Amino acid sequence: MRILVANDDGIYSPGIWTLAEVAKEFGDVRVVAPDVEQSSMGHAITASRPLAYRPTNLKNGVEAYRVNGTPADCVALGAYHWEKVDVVLSGVNIGLNLGNSIWHSGTLAAAKQAALLGLRGVALSAPGSREPDYENLKPWIRRVLEVVLSDSTLRLTNINFPRDPRGLLWTRVSVRQYDGQVVPMKDPMGRELYWFTVVPIRGSEEGTDRWAVERSWTSLTPLRLDLTDEAMLAAARTKHPLDERVAAALRSEPPAPDAEKTVREDEAKAEPGAGPAMSS
Ligand code: MN
Repeated sequence: MRILVANDDGIYSPGIWTLAEVAKEFGDVRVVAPDVEQSSMGHAITASRPLAYRPTNLKNGVEAYRVNGTPADCVALGAYHWEKVDVVLSGVNIGLNLGNSIWHSGTLAAAKQAALLGLRGVALSAPGSREPDYENLKPWIRRVLEVVLSDSTLRLTNINFPRDPRGLLWTRVSVRQYDGQVVPMKDPMGRELYWFTVVPIRGSEEGTDRWAVERSWTSLTPLRLDLTDEAMLAAARTKHPLDERVAAALRSEPPAPDAEKTVREDEAKAEPGAGPAMSS
């Protein structure tokens, strides 16, 4: 099994070495990670400048490369340079990625990038308010990898470890609470400035990732990239019928040449850097 290890904390984070060391027990490991921290970068890709992919010496002998880009860039370049990657492990992030974090997290973005490329992705995160005890975490990483690596139907999984795990639970995403808040302040000249910051929130719904980690369970959440709200789609088609009937009657027609060309040109322009990696 070929295991690509990435993260958003950067290639010198202790979390990525802990993960790489455990991953070695499951297959061939290569690390490709940002040269500096890229936390909260979400799924950004670097499309307006070229990227470097440089070998980096590692203490535990794992082949490693650093990239001057985002976590998603690292996965794209890693998969481009290493054929037939089976799975991308991202982490172990120093800081939990619960609930709404799936939107901001660079750790999760690396796993989602794997899924976009047709690979399997696993994001792993641990509490960061105090430095995690990586040796204590290793048996739990091992147990999680035993589950998620052995089942190829798990395409994208978000893992969160509590401080002292007592077991593993399958969970869903906690989305009802959002912990982002704007806090105003003044600079030394008295001008208004703002922090967009995360504030602790209380309470959680049973069965969610946050609920599990608050009770010392390691949380495993299967995710998907298709965000279509199926129930709402069906309801909208009934409540506000558009031109579906006409489109259905014409569906054997080929695409309109101009319209199709416009879409192709637009997508080519939008992601120049992603082209070669996508085709590998
Ligand atoms: Mn991070």
